[in-house]
Amino acid sequence: MELAERVKILSAGAKYDVSCSSSGSDRKNTGNMIGDTAACGICHSFTEDGRCISLLKILMSNDCVFDCQYCVNRRSNDIQRASISPQELCELTMGFYRRNYIEGLFLSSAVFVNPDHTMEILLQTVKTLREVCLFNGYIHLKAIPHADPALIDQASRYVDRMSVNIELPSEQGLKKLAPSKTKESILKPMKQLSDIYLNGQELANHKNLLGVGGNVLISDPVGKPKQKPNHPISAGQTTQLIIGATPDADGTILKLSQALYRLYRLKRVYYSAYMPVGNSKLLPSAPANTKRENRLYQADWLIRFYGFDVDEFISPEVNLNYDLDPKTDWALRNMDKFPIEINNAPYEVLLRVPGIGIKNAWRIVRARKSGRLGLEDLKRMKVVLKRAINFITIDGKFFGIRNYNQLNNYMLQEPNQQLSIFDDQKLSIVTGEF
Ligand code: SF4
Repeated sequence: MELAERVKILSAGAKYDVSCSSSGSDRKNTGNMIGDTAACGICHSFTEDGRCISLLKILMSNDCVFDCQYCVNRRSNDIQRASISPQELCELTMGFYRRNYIEGLFLSSAVFVNPDHTMEILLQTVKTLREVCLFNGYIHLKAIPHADPALIDQASRYVDRMSVNIELPSEQGLKKLAPSKTKESILKPMKQLSDIYLNGQELANHKNLLGVGGNVLISDPVGKPKQKPNHPISAGQTTQLIIGATPDADGTILKLSQALYRLYRLKRVYYSAYMPVGNSKLLPSAPANTKRENRLYQADWLIRFYGFDVDEFISPEVNLNYDLDPKTDWALRNMDKFPIEINNAPYEVLLRVPGIGIKNAWRIVRARKSGRLGLEDLKRMKVVLKRAINFITIDGKFFGIRNYNQLNNYMLQEPNQQLSIFDDQKLSIVTGEF
């Protein structure tokens, strides 16, 4: 099969993996415009400063020996199979890179022959890219479950980020839908990647202290990183969870995400609403609600950036309220904690007010050093007052809706409440991706 045909198949096979962001746009060049977009193949990722970069997103092979029911590349699915050699992939990447089509590579693979063989080929590819082709762009590489840890360790030295996809939020789901994988085969490489990342950071910090050229990531909640770390998988690890393929509730899913952030220092958990890609009787016939996916991302922000513990806003067997963003939903269920006084509430408390996000909480804390704040100051800071005003006092005065039922209805109807936990557009695109 021609290389172009194989690339088409392999990039289409990679598009279901959202553990790096993808645009999904498909627009041909009309002749009077510059460039075009493709639904698969080149995807977009975000750096920590919010810059959008394009990646070649591709599989080494879609010829899988495993049979995960939710996956288009599974053994029992009757699809066209293709593979690409390390040499071909290096040439393709360098060709795209030199022509400025891409700024990096997202390389994954089905398990072909066996996990070790697959990991060896992936390792050979990234090693050749770095050492022979001298490719200095971004690389995000998949770690293959069940692969030899020594291969994963070697591969980590050549790439910026690695990921192992959990896919299913519970062990029961894994047993039912992906029997070739085990909880251990996923968590073990995750733990290994976490150790590699932390050791690298420690070493970089140490070198920096000694003044021998190490790099430390120094940042504050409103600032940009001042220096980039330079060590194996310096951009950390991510994972993907498929939502709606199993009956697992949002509470269980978020509890798992929280554990992954805390135990394995994940940079990001991606939630992918289940889409039927076959006719397996073990799976729902309809796609999962994408609004659910959106609410899970918002709840994930509460854990990562707003200092919430999952247990504070959801129980394990319960789903999120899809009609309200999770922070507003929490606030309405905890009205005994409001209103808070804008002129003396601690930063952590300000963060919990619907309509006040990370940047504005910091702005408020900083501005208070120069004097007491009034309504006009909050307007100038672009606090989303139509929401926040119901949960704060300003110099002891309350300007919001006092009646709980009225407030609840107002929040349900408030047109932009979907975005209410993100008070700043620039910050809302910071996805944790490099
Ligand atoms: S191992 Fe990966 S590629 Fe293979 S069937 Fe499972 S999810 Fe799909």
